[in-house]
Amino acid sequence: MRKKIVAGNWKMNKNLDETEALLAELSAKLPDTHADVIVAPTFVNLATAVNHLNSSVIQVAAQNMHFEDTGAYTGEISADMLLNIGVGTVILGHSERRSLFGEDDAMLARKVKKALEKNMQIIFCFGEELSDRKSSNHFKVVEGQLKNGLFNLPAEAWSSIILAYEPVWAIGTGETASPEQAQEMHEFIRKTIAGAYDSNIADEVTILYGGSVKPANAAEIFSKPDVDGGLIGGAALKCDDFIAIINAI
Ligand code: PEP
Repeated sequence: MRKKIVAGNWKMNKNLDETEALLAELSAKLPDTHADVIVAPTFVNLATAVNHLNSSVIQVAAQNMHFEDTGAYTGEISADMLLNIGVGTVILGHSERRSLFGEDDAMLARKVKKALEKNMQIIFCFGEELSDRKSSNHFKVVEGQLKNGLFNLPAEAWSSIILAYEPVWAIGTGETASPEQAQEMHEFIRKTIAGAYDSNIADEVTILYGGSVKPANAAEIFSKPDVDGGLIGGAALKCDDFIAIINAI
């Protein structure tokens, strides 16, 4: 059985007070669920989140990390720094990191390699732009992102990888891929992995959908057989919305 996951990417939102308030509300309202629940607050509030969620099943992830261990990389955060405060999961390759901060497939491959070397769990994000979909290049683009970012990995690395398919045109736009579009791409992703590795790895990897998932559309998207949960942006910032999405799985 594949692991089901609902993960909230808080991006550059929530100061310390707001972080504590949202975590307290989430802990109090968290329903019994078979899904793993992950939150990714901003770097400065990660240690607080780890301490706060000490006795909770909610896990904490970082939104990014650097590919080197230490050194002259002003403004960057290493895997060891995250592990040292109890954060063992990292989101890599989010479309905002790719488009706004110049992270390309080659850099992401280095980050993935470092995270695996440190035994971290990775939520690897990828997805096509609107122009790719309009020109029917979306499958090719997604295949390229997977190949360049992940297909150099040994088979055993895949147990540490969670995929998050996030069509860029659906992130923060209010526009969601239809459940059928999500299913079609998730199925394609599994076939591509089966081709590069084998069907066991393809069947076992958790693939999240991300892009304007809301309480109103979550259940239908999550009902698709190859969709194993969601990476949630905007709706993860409101406790009741995030809880409703967890309940939808
Ligand atoms: C995201 O940033 O990963 C995301 C899916 O955002 P939103 O849910 O706001 O579209």
